[in-house]
Amino acid sequence: MNAEIIMIGSELLLGQIVDTNAAYLARELAGAGINLFFKTTVGDNWRRMAEVIENALMRSDIVITSGGIGPTEDDLTREVVADVVGQPLEFRQELFDQIEGLFKRHGFTMSPNNRKQAFIPRDAIAIENPVGTAPGFVAEKNGRVIISLPGVPRELKFLTETFVIPFLRKRFSLGEVTIVSRVLKICGMGESRVDTQVGDLLRDSSNPTLGILAEPAQILLRITAKAPSLSEATDKIAVMEADIRGRLGPLIFGADDDTLEGTVNTMLTQKQKSLALVETLTGGGIAQRFTSIGSQALIEAVVAHSEEARRRLAGVETRRWSDEKRNHRSLVVALAREMRGRSGSDIAVAALGILPGSEQLETDEKESGKTCIAVESETGSAYWQFLFGGIDSLNQTRATVLAIEMLRRYLIGYVDPEFPPRTQSRH
Ligand code: ATP
Ligand code: MG
Repeated sequence: MNAEIIMIGSELLLGQIVDTNAAYLARELAGAGINLFFKTTVGDNWRRMAEVIENALMRSDIVITSGGIGPTEDDLTREVVADVVGQPLEFRQELFDQIEGLFKRHGFTMSPNNRKQAFIPRDAIAIENPVGTAPGFVAEKNGRVIISLPGVPRELKFLTETFVIPFLRKRFSLGEVTIVSRVLKICGMGESRVDTQVGDLLRDSSNPTLGILAEPAQILLRITAKAPSLSEATDKIAVMEADIRGRLGPLIFGADDDTLEGTVNTMLTQKQKSLALVETLTGGGIAQRFTSIGSQALIEAVVAHSEEARRRLAGVETRRWSDEKRNHRSLVVALAREMRGRSGSDIAVAALGILPGSEQLETDEKESGKTCIAVESETGSAYWQFLFGGIDSLNQTRATVLAIEMLRRYLIGYVDPEFPPRTQSRH
C-alpha cells in the first residue's frame, strides 16, 4: 500500500512556516505500516495543484493533502480535488449545520464564505471536524483514495488520529502492521570508520534495515523493522542491535532520546563524582550542555578566553609563559589539574582549541581546527589531540561533543585502539 502526501500552501514554499504536518503525517503512516514514497509541496495555484494531485493519483494508492480547505479565496483544495476526480462540489447540509453550530457555541456570526466549507465532491465521504471549522473529505478515483485535511496542525492531527488512520486500516485491510525504529548513537568516530564496522548491514539488510546519518561529531544508526505487531518489530530490532553492539561495543553511548551529556551526567552522578571545566574554543559550550540538563555533577566552569587568563589558570609564571604556552599538551593538562585543585572537583576537563580566525593556543602559525582535551582526576590525566578539517563554524560543536565523549571514555575506562589517549599516571 503506497501513500504520498501533498503539502499545500505558498507560505511553505516561501519558507515562512516550517512544514511540521509533513513530518507528522510521515510518522503516522509509518506507524500504520503504510509506505510513504513521495512528498510534494505546492503553492496555492490551481494549475500546479491540479498537476501534482493528478500525478499523485496515477502512482499512489493513497494521497493525503494538507491545507487549503479554509473559507478564503486562496483556499482551492476542495475545488481542485473535485475537478481532478471529475465530480461536482455538492452542498452538505449536515456539514453546514456543524460549522454553524461551532460558530454559535463560540458566540461568533458565521460569515457567508464559511458556507463554502460545507461543499465537498459529490461522492466524497465527509470528515467532521469538531476542533475547527474546516471539515475534511475522502474522495476516490479509480479505486485510489484522496484525503484532504485542514492545514492547521492541531486539526490535522486530530482528524488523522481519529479518522484517517482507522479509515485506511479498514479500507485497505491493513491489519496491525507497524514500522518501528531505534536509533543507536556514536560519537568521536567518522562515518567511514562506522561503515567499515557495519557496512554489510547497511547495504544488505532488508527487514530490519539499517541507515546511517552523520551529524557534526555524532553518528546515528537507525534500525527500522516492519512487523504485524509492536513486539515482533521490537524483537527484530533487538537481534540487529545485539549484532551492532557486538561490533561497536562501548563506542555506542546511547539510543533514541539519550544525549551524550545526559549519559555522562548519569555516570558522574552514579559514581558520585563532581566535575569542573576549562574551555577556550568551545566558549562555554560544554558547560551549557551540562547546565541545560540541570546537572548536579558540574560545580564550576571557566571560559579562559584570553591568553592572560590561561596563563593565570595554568599557574605559569609570566617569565616562563612564552616557552610553556607552546607546549599544548602540558598546558591543557596543567589547566585541568589546576582547575581541579581550585574547584575541589573530583574530575576536571580542559578543552583548548584554535578559534576560527584567531591566535588561540598561543601558536606561531595558525593551526585552525586543532583541539586538545585533557581529563584529570586523582588517578592521573588523559590527553587527546584532534585536528579538524572542514568548516570552521562546526568546530565548536565538534570540540564540545568530543570533550564530553573523551570524558565518557575516561569514565568507563575505554581505550579506543585507533585513538588511544596519552596518559600520565599520578602514581
Ligand atoms: P484554515 O481554515 O485555517 O484556512 P486551511 O486548511 O485552509 O485552514 P491553510 O490555510 O493552508 O489551511 O493553513 C492554515 C494554517 O495552518 C497556516 O497559516 C499555517 O500556520 C498552518 N499550516 C498549514 N500548513 C502547514 C504545514 N504543512 N505544517 C505546519 N503548519 C501548517
Ligand atoms: Mg486557509
